[in-house]
This record gives sequence, C-alpha cells and structure tokens, in this order.
Amino acid sequence: MALTGLEIYKKLPKQNCRECGLPTCLAFAMKVAAGQAGLDTCPRLTEEARSNLNEASAPPQRLVTIGEGEAGFPMGQETVLYRHEERFHHPCGIAVRVEDTLDDAGLDARLEAIGQMAFERMGLRMVIDLVAIDNVSGEAARFAACAKKAAEKLNKPLVLISGNVAALQAAAASVAPRRALLQFTEAAPGEDLFKLAKEKNLPLGLQADSLEALTALAEKARAAGLQDLVLSPGAAAGPAAALEFLTKTRRAALQKKFRPLGYPVLTYALGSGDEALIAACWYVLKYAGIVVVDTLEPVAVLALMMTRFNIYTDPQKPVQVEAKLYAVGEPGELSPVLITTNFALSFYSVEGEVEAARVPSYILAVDTEGTSVLTAWAADKFNAETIAAAVEKSGLAEKVKHRKLTLPGHVAVISGGLEEASGWKVDVGPKEAVGLTSYLKQRWKAE
Ligand code: SF4
Repeated sequence: MALTGLEIYKKLPKQNCRECGLPTCLAFAMKVAAGQAGLDTCPRLTEEARSNLNEASAPPQRLVTIGEGEAGFPMGQETVLYRHEERFHHPCGIAVRVEDTLDDAGLDARLEAIGQMAFERMGLRMVIDLVAIDNVSGEAARFAACAKKAAEKLNKPLVLISGNVAALQAAAASVAPRRALLQFTEAAPGEDLFKLAKEKNLPLGLQADSLEALTALAEKARAAGLQDLVLSPGAAAGPAAALEFLTKTRRAALQKKFRPLGYPVLTYALGSGDEALIAACWYVLKYAGIVVVDTLEPVAVLALMMTRFNIYTDPQKPVQVEAKLYAVGEPGELSPVLITTNFALSFYSVEGEVEAARVPSYILAVDTEGTSVLTAWAADKFNAETIAAAVEKSGLAEKVKHRKLTLPGHVAVISGGLEEASGWKVDVGPKEAVGLTSYLKQRWKAE
C-alpha cells in the first residue's frame, strides 16, 4: 500500500526551505501522498530516502504512451475522480477499428477515411488518434500485413488486438519500430506474451471479465517486469459492465492507491448505431483512456470528439483565445471593426459568421480573462475603458481610415461611454453572432 502523507513526511529533510515551491515539508508530503507532486522537486532529499519513497511518489495511475515522440499518444496519470476537483489531464484516445478480414481495396479505403477524418473547432484541429487493427481472421500473416499497411499509410499510434501471441508477435515486428499497444484478448496470458512485451519494450493490454481476475493478471505482468499496462473489460462487456469497470478501476487507483489497477483503461463501443455512440460518449466521460469504435460517420465522430473536448477542458480556466486584433479575410482601410471578448466560443462564433458573410473584417478580442460578453460586462471587465484601451493598444487607428467600432448588441448600454473613452463612433451590432451576416451586408457603413 502507498504511504500516507505523515509517513512520507518522516523521511523528508524537514528544512522547510520552500525550494519545492511549497511552504513546508509537510505540505510537500501531503502533495506527494496525493500523487500531485513528485519527489524530484525536493533537491534536499537523500538518495536513500528517495528510493524508500519511490512507491509513494509514483502517480496512482501510470502514464502509458503508445507510439513515440510527437506521434506518441499518452494516457493515464489522472489525479482526480471528478473534473471540478482539478481537471482531467490526458484526453481519451479515439481509436478506429480496422478488421484484418478486409480485402485490399476495403483496407485502403478505410485507412484513407481514417486519415482524412478531421474537424476544426474552437481553433483546434481534431483527428482520429489511433488505429486499432483487429485480428478477426485469426491468421498471423494477414494480421501482420494489415498492421504493416496501416503503419505505412498513417502516422498514428497503433493498437494490435488479438488473442494469439504469435499473431501479436508478427504484427509487432511488421510495424517496428512503432511502439504499438499489444492488446491481448484472452483471459490467460502466458510467459511468452510477457516476454514479447518486455523484450520489445511494448505496452501490454490485458483483459478480464472481473476485477479480481484482472488484478491477478496485472500482478503477474508486474512480477514479470512489465510496467506499461492497459486494462480492459473486453469487447463483450456491455455499457453497464464497462462503466462499472471504469469507475471501480479509477476509484481503486486514486482512492485506495491500489497499484495493480493503477493503469489506463481501453474500452470498446463497436457497431454503428446510436447505442454504440452513446456508449462511447459515456466511456469518454467516465475515465476511459482509449475507446475503440467502428464508426467513421462524421456526425458521430464529431459528437464523440466534442464530448471529449468538453470534459477535458480545465474547469477553472475558460477556453480563450489570445486577446488581440484579428484580420478575417484581407480587410482594408474601410473594413468593419467588430468588438468581442477573448472567450473562445464568442470569438469563434463571430469569426465563423464573418467568414460566412465573406466581408473582410477586423475582430478585436478584448481581454476579459476568457469570459463571454455579458459575463465580462457584469464583472466590469468589458467596459468603455477596457475596450478603449484595447483599441488603442491594437494599432487600429493605423489600419483603418474610418473611426467606427461595432459593439455587441448585448452591451449597447456602454456605447455612449465607449465613444467618449475612445474617441471612435460606436455602432451597436446584433446581439447574437448569427445576426452578423445581415448586419455586415446590409447595415454596416464605414461612414
Ligand atoms: S524542498 Fe524539500 S526540504 Fe525544502 S521545503 Fe520542500 S520538501 Fe522540505
């Protein structure tokens, strides 16, 4: 079992020097016990104490990376059960399954569709994270050829799914040096599987239909010297069983510091209907490290990606853009100047409507610490003075000949004050971004 904060404290230098960034050694010990600080941040710790405390300092859930370098996909090392307690750190990977029974043309088409699937949202480019090759054929050569083609065509981390050690060995060799996840689907892995993962330094996925059985498997793998493990309830587990599995493993890892279950979890939401999509969204929300899906329907993949986006944002930091002047299209001296806040949703709503209207414009995103127009106005962060200061700082006066700003309709009440503070005329625009197209095309005039 992991050490408590007081047990860790007993082994610390007790100098309260603050070099770790915390006010006291006791505060540091508590952070280490909670898995929120590493021993490396205390430079005064003796080597002996460091090695004694290693078990306590290890994060309650291990960080496991599939692939390497910039193309590597990290998962795990989560620190809280509930997002509002801090935040979730490593977004769940979306892996699209590719069955190795596809013929050449079908395989090419599916890999191409996976590579092309991408969405732009709130300034982010969202793509499929991983490719999961499933050894449905049961044949090692076919599985290896399919994995090889996926590795050649796509620069994405690979999950190799099979219950056949020889097939996993052949596929791992065919994609080397890619660091693929070996996802073993049988309940009784032998020493040959552990040997393969250890010799090739590959992460190993284990599955069982009960936590007791999985704990025994994980302990066996750890005893064999394996550190990078991934746990799974298997493809046959229904949504209720999979959610129970996800919740119990996360609780065991974080609340009990139970090391055999302190690993990321891989789940399956196979099929193409709404039920599979709903299950996939639930797994994303409830702690999955990877969810393997079949669907490549854009509307389903986008729904899944937006579910993930929302749960993995930092609840204490509104999603924001840099507060500055943006040019949409190629605005000129007589182009409109639209004022908004640097709340990402506000900014991208305005930007999207301006692009759709095809009227080149400037957008001035005022720093409101990422809050929306009305919230910022209510908090006195979006007022005549802050906007006038942003206009001054932006250098707008040198970019446009006119002296007219367009203010969001929701804050029309500050238009007079803004004219006085800035010396610019103020035009009150629509309350919602959706009204910008008609405003820009029909109402806006430079003079
Ligand atoms: S750096 Fe080490 S000795 Fe200094 S306060 Fe932190 S834990 Fe204590």
